[in-house]
Amino acid sequence: MGVTRTDGVLQSAPKKDSGRAHRDARPEGTCIQVGRVEIGGPGFVVMAGPCAVEDAEQTERTAAAVAAAGAHVLRGGVFKPRTSPYSFQGLGEPGLHVLTEAGKRHGLPLISEVMDASQIPLMEESTDILQVGARNMQNYTLLRALGKVRKPVLLKRGLAATIEEWLLAAEYLLEGGNEQVMLCERGIRTFETAMRNTLDLAAVAYVKQRSHLPVIVDPSHATGDPRLVLPMSLAAAAAGADGLLVEVHPWPERALCDGRQALTPEGFQDLMRRLPAVLAAMDRHLSQPERPAQLLGVR
Ligand code: PEP
Ligand code: MN
Repeated sequence: MGVTRTDGVLQSAPKKDSGRAHRDARPEGTCIQVGRVEIGGPGFVVMAGPCAVEDAEQTERTAAAVAAAGAHVLRGGVFKPRTSPYSFQGLGEPGLHVLTEAGKRHGLPLISEVMDASQIPLMEESTDILQVGARNMQNYTLLRALGKVRKPVLLKRGLAATIEEWLLAAEYLLEGGNEQVMLCERGIRTFETAMRNTLDLAAVAYVKQRSHLPVIVDPSHATGDPRLVLPMSLAAAAAGADGLLVEVHPWPERALCDGRQALTPEGFQDLMRRLPAVLAAMDRHLSQPERPAQLLGVR
């Protein structure tokens, strides 16, 4: 018999209709295979790229830089959930072609956001991980539709979501039959205004105990400040995260979206250089990016 909590929510002995995300449902932890990369295993995985795909040159420059620095997955939004309807909304389908070409050239699998169930067929076909943005964490119609998809889903924590609400959102995906779910802590809204959000690193350590799902940290949206991305990335690795989702832009001052928080390619390289020491302290390591032989070139 498992322990029954007085709040009655996730019990350690999962019932048929609840608690699929609970650690007891899979004590060994969930590992998600994305191309040659394993997320949730001993190797730490880094997903990096621009907030939004803006054009072919920006995407290519970013993809080349993050691949050279050792990133495992290329990120890039083509459908952008913007606070203002007057802001750049993403390139949509043409942007997806730009992203897929860059991914192919550099041997990187792709993660990109799906904002609406109508975008699922397109995104499912062309990307490797479907991102649910913070603003959509409780869009249950979307979550139910993604429960039917046979591709991994990265579920961002809502702007003001409790851990309970976040895990219950994950239940919608699991209950629908999609077991390839990873969680992403991207900062929450608190009384603090010095940073864009408050990175809840304790939530990372806590959720790793309570759930078997891999946890990714997004230090870019969590802080909104490129100077804080390095220390918070290292702290995320120390807190037990399974990987990072980081925004990188070759020319942050010109970015159409979230330029103020983007790392430059040099900043990203520095991060990748410093991660292994922290991971080693936790008996972990940076996952080896295993690029196809034709992309490795002669050394
Ligand atoms: C993003 O990843 O660019 C994004 C919009 O993130 P979030 O949903 O966390 O705000
Ligand atoms: Mn962004």
